[in-house]
Formats: sequence, C-alpha cells, structure tokens
Amino acid sequence: MQLSVKNYLSFLLLALLPIISFAQWLDDFKAHTAYLASDALKGRGTGSAEIKLAAAYIAEQFRQIGLQPQADGSYYQWFHVPDYTEKEANVIGIIPAAQPTDRSMVFTAHYDALGTSESGGEEDGIYNGARDNAVGVAALMELARQFMEEEGPRQHLVFIATAAEEIGTHGSRFYVENPVFPRDEITLCINIDGFNISGPRADYFVMPRQGVDFLDEIQSVAATLGWVYNPPDWIDGMNTNFDTASFLAKGIPAFTLWTGAQLIGGGQAEPIPFGRIHSPEDEINEHWNWEGVEAHLRLYKRIADYFLERPNGITVTDPQLFVHE
Ligand SMILES: [Zn+2]
Repeated sequence: MQLSVKNYLSFLLLALLPIISFAQWLDDFKAHTAYLASDALKGRGTGSAEIKLAAAYIAEQFRQIGLQPQADGSYYQWFHVPDYTEKEANVIGIIPAAQPTDRSMVFTAHYDALGTSESGGEEDGIYNGARDNAVGVAALMELARQFMEEEGPRQHLVFIATAAEEIGTHGSRFYVENPVFPRDEITLCINIDGFNISGPRADYFVMPRQGVDFLDEIQSVAATLGWVYNPPDWIDGMNTNFDTASFLAKGIPAFTLWTGAQLIGGGQAEPIPFGRIHSPEDEINEHWNWEGVEAHLRLYKRIADYFLERPNGITVTDPQLFVHE
C-alpha cells in the first residue's frame, strides 16, 4: 500500500487518536480525584461547609455527563444526620431504562471523609480521604459516563455519591428507606469504596463473600477478562464496613470489589507505602500509580453489564450478617 504524505498523516492521526483520548480521559479522572481530595475541601467532613462544595462538584459532573436528576429536578437527596444541625445530601443521577420497568441497579461511592483535626507533627490535620474515597467517586462518575454513551439500559441505573458514610453509613441507609425506584425491585448495589491506584494487577476479591449467592457468577464474569479471584480471609471481618451493608441487611444484593497484589505475568507486588486511610496521610502522593485504574473500571463495568441482562434475581442468603451491632 502506497501512502501519500497527506494519507500518511491522517493514518498516523487515526492511530494516535485512541492514545490522545485515553490520555485526556485519564487526565479528567485524575482531576476529579485531585479536586475532591484537595486541601481546599478540608477533608469533606460531615457538617462542614466544604462538603457542600464537593456535592456541588459531583452534581455538576452528573449534569454534564447527561444523567437525569430526581423527579423534583434536583440531584440532591437531603437528609438529617443524628447530632448534626446541617443537613447532608446524597448526590443522585439517573439513567432511565430503555423500556418501562420498576427494576433498578444502584451504584454507590461515598464522597464524605473525616474532615479536619488539630494539626499535629508533620501533618496538616486535613483528612483528605484520597484513596477513601475521592478516587472511588471519580470511578463512579466515569462508570456513569460509560453507560451514558451506550443504548438505554434494561434497568434504571441510579448513581449515588453517598454522604455521611464514615460516621455510620447514613446516606446509604437513607437511600434504602427512600429509594428513587421501589426497594423490592433494586436488583443490585455495586459499591466503589477504594480503587486500584497501585498499578496493573492480576487478582481481585469481592466483599462480602459470605451470605450471598452470586460469587460464582462474578468469578465467571471476571475470568473472561483474565482476572484471578484471590480473597484474603480478613474480608470476613468487613461485612458491615461499607455502604453495601445498608442494602445487604435489607436483603438487597450488594458488593464492593478490590484488586490484590498479584502482578500481571506472575509474582507479588511489594507493599506500597500509601498513607494510612482515616488519617491526614490519605493524600495523593508519589506512590500513586494510575495504570491500574482503567482495568479496574472495566471489571466493574463488565460485571454490571452481566447482571443487568440477568433475567432472574440474585439473593442475599443471610441478611443478618450485615446488620450493625
Ligand atoms: Zn470508605
């Protein structure tokens, strides 16, 4: 094949386009994370003025993506948190199903963190909540964007950036009591709390692995993308630690999915010295490696696509496991 200079240039451009747009996409993803985790938002504490800035940012992103607000025209679902004067808001964006249905699939990621404390030592006293969970909110918005680019889904999709998770999963509990679509028809809650910023990884695990009947199916789906299922035993102590518990305790299937430490091609990654979560150390720093983000997103998306098409429901076999003491 002969290529003229002009043809050659357009050929080159076409070949580069996916690289350019991927770079742009990753820049956007990083920018969402960086804004939410910035010192300006002072740790997105429940009751703070700054968490309202985070809520406004997420609502504006939902609007730009093309998600629909609730019936009252608002992206905010306000609720009262015990012992706080200020109301908090779940930020909710919807993609309606292509055909009439009452079924909905819910996607959650909490956007609150632990605010600020008196600074001590080298730290600035701001609990930035970067891994927990600014990056998860960025992932939630990106999943929403990907679904928006497709044909209308078979179920309603409800994307919820939940509030007041860190002080008692209040936002998700409020949603379960006040859902946009009937609670009995929520087929699944896919939760993002923490995300892979450790670089490319081969293995993953699902929380919970007890009290639900859909682990085998997730493993089959994940295997089609080459992922290795590798659950550590400590996850069984985390049954009530996430927004998922609000759903699971009511008998609604829900899960969170983390990646492990296996490297692609074999071997274990060395532990990465990220700052501790729930401390001022949880900031974006030089240890963050964004190369695993896209694969983690693709895994979540593939599983969501699978369960959206599944004709019959999956179940929570032991809701009691997820009831807070
Ligand atoms: Zn969290």
